[in-house]
Amino acid sequence: MDDIVEGSKLRAESKSEQERKVEPISKVGIVGGGQMGSGIAHVVALGGYDVAINDIAKERFDSALAAITKNMSRQVSSGKISEEDRDKALSRISFAETFQDFSDVDLVVEAATEDETVKRKIFVAVCPFLKPDAVLATNTSSISITRLAATTDRPERFIGMHFMNPVPVMELVEMIRGIATDDVTFTRAKDFVDTLHKTIAVSEDFPAFMVNRILLPMINEAVYTLYEGVGSVDAIDTAMRLGAHHPMGPLQLADFIGLDTCLSIMQVLYEGLADSKYRPCPLLVKYVEAGWLGRKTKRGFYDYRGESPMPTR
Ligand code: NAD
Repeated sequence: MDDIVEGSKLRAESKSEQERKVEPISKVGIVGGGQMGSGIAHVVALGGYDVAINDIAKERFDSALAAITKNMSRQVSSGKISEEDRDKALSRISFAETFQDFSDVDLVVEAATEDETVKRKIFVAVCPFLKPDAVLATNTSSISITRLAATTDRPERFIGMHFMNPVPVMELVEMIRGIATDDVTFTRAKDFVDTLHKTIAVSEDFPAFMVNRILLPMINEAVYTLYEGVGSVDAIDTAMRLGAHHPMGPLQLADFIGLDTCLSIMQVLYEGLADSKYRPCPLLVKYVEAGWLGRKTKRGFYDYRGESPMPTR
């Protein structure tokens, strides 16, 4: 027994030795400059790190930078940060036209579309350019970390780092280890998230982890409630805001998350847990097929093109 305790102490020492040899994270690469990628870049740049954002086109980066500038300026107006903080943070953000620009990053956070094929292609393309020590993290809302890690050259330095939307406001980050994620990587990732003043909840690697395992079936049920004619968009959202004290209704929240992302998460739950209770509502599928993806396309369960959002059903 003593030998076991002594053995584990020795292992702990050698791990911390290893940790000391690893470079501290100073530059971060982000793949995908959409809602989440731009939000992550926002908090990471304010945290004092250099940030390079890659997306499929320069215009996407320009939109991300415009959104970050607007959101940081709002924080200046409300006294949360100074103008100097904002200007310094903005000057730390650059465009990574290719993954060659990630050759000096210590951490990559992948925040591209919630589609396993898209993410796999990104990991295969990015790995050859990374430093051997660089940590690869994914912001996936639902896809298996172990499976994604297996497509890379570094499953032991691969981790789930699931930020919440909107990133500058939400305090939680779910951290998910794949089967191969090593302790040094977990500690490096955890220490990094700590510097962003976020709270960590550790989840096992199961479909949709914790927050979305609970949240998305509720949203899907709200869409079924609409589909079956139990209530209108307005009635369902009012019911949940005033009857369950939710800060926003489930359909409004779905629009905020993005209906394509909601559908992908439900598909991962349905297929991953092989249980019919997770069947995506056909009406959710229809909205996605129409390209009505919520706020990001200005139409979802609400129409955002006018002065105030109008229910679409
Ligand atoms: P989004 O649609 O706003 O942005 C996705 C971005 O990825 C787009 O800018 C797109 O151009 C880019 N992209 C797509 N393919 C790419 C490629 N091959 N290379 C580089 N960039 C590429 O989506 P989002 O809401 O920001 O979601 C991104 C990720 O974050 C998803 O995995 C999603 O599940 C996760 N997430 C979303 C939320 C949410 O509430 N929306 C919350 C937590 C996590």
